[in-house]
Amino acid sequence: MIVTLHSHISITEATSLAVSLEGEAVQFEGKTLLVVSGKIKKLPARLKDLASDFQVMDNDMQLSSKEFVEKRIVNIAGSNVGSDDKTFVMAGPCSVESKEQIDSTAAYLSSLGVQFLRGGCFKPRTSPYSFQGLGREGLELLRSAADRHGMLVVSEVRDATHVEQVIELADVIQIGAKSMYDHGILRACGKTTKPVLIKRGFGTTLQEFAQAAEFVLCGGNENVMLCERGIRTFENDTRFTLDLCGVAFLKEKTNLPIIIDPSHAMGLSYGVADLARASVAMGIDGLMVEVHCNPARAKSDAAQQLDHNSFSSLYTSLAPVAASIGRSIQ
Ligand code: PEP
Ligand code: MN
Repeated sequence: MIVTLHSHISITEATSLAVSLEGEAVQFEGKTLLVVSGKIKKLPARLKDLASDFQVMDNDMQLSSKEFVEKRIVNIAGSNVGSDDKTFVMAGPCSVESKEQIDSTAAYLSSLGVQFLRGGCFKPRTSPYSFQGLGREGLELLRSAADRHGMLVVSEVRDATHVEQVIELADVIQIGAKSMYDHGILRACGKTTKPVLIKRGFGTTLQEFAQAAEFVLCGGNENVMLCERGIRTFENDTRFTLDLCGVAFLKEKTNLPIIIDPSHAMGLSYGVADLARASVAMGIDGLMVEVHCNPARAKSDAAQQLDHNSFSSLYTSLAPVAASIGRSIQ
């Protein structure tokens, strides 16, 4: 339930009410809201005189739900992700590995017109014996490559200890699939206004995915995007299975911009272009693709990264697909 409080109620009062009701107090468009469990279907008696309005919700998909607001647009340095007629491309290597590597890919992507440069620096690897990323040094390399080529930075946080560094140097904080349930990260991201891209955990339901976004939204950060990147099924011949049904559900039910990452879903470079075109045809807000200057030598996710030429062919092929549904590729 989302309760709108009378304007004379201070945020301090709202916060203590929230604590006593196991909910959260949030400011939205100049109003103070109290968000309590979606299971509560009647206005609690103690809120009767304090509420100017309330909305009963089906479940705990509340601030992210279309029932609450139809649409949210995330403004990233002037790029409006979530607007009806644009699909933004976010591309770059799985990991930032060296100055030369990130610079070469940034130069190539910016020459094509790609605005968002992605690259992992704090990598949440499945094995402790794999490359873990360059950390702060990588973030600085990524930031300066992006600045040199007029691009925006998307980079991942692995744990809550370095969220501040990513906030300082990136334009979009990526929360990885393996971190989708990390409440330290989710709550830290709720305290900033920096845009956050949450990747769906590969074993999570769509409700759980939306609820991860609720942690960030009710923490006070309205700039949240959802990224479908493949879920685990019985199939082992592809790395994951891209859940386009899930994307249709999220588009129908949530107000958040939707990004699709076909690279991690497929796990193999040969399928990425077809999945990317299928994704764009769904009318998504963003597409994230892994691109490396020399995929065979990549330190992480080598099998799925596209080389520059393959990415260029894919990128060129997206515009007519987007145009067929009234969108343009940005
Ligand atoms: C990545 O984007 O490189 C990554 C680790 O993705 P995911 O969290 O979806 O596995
Ligand atoms: Mn990767």
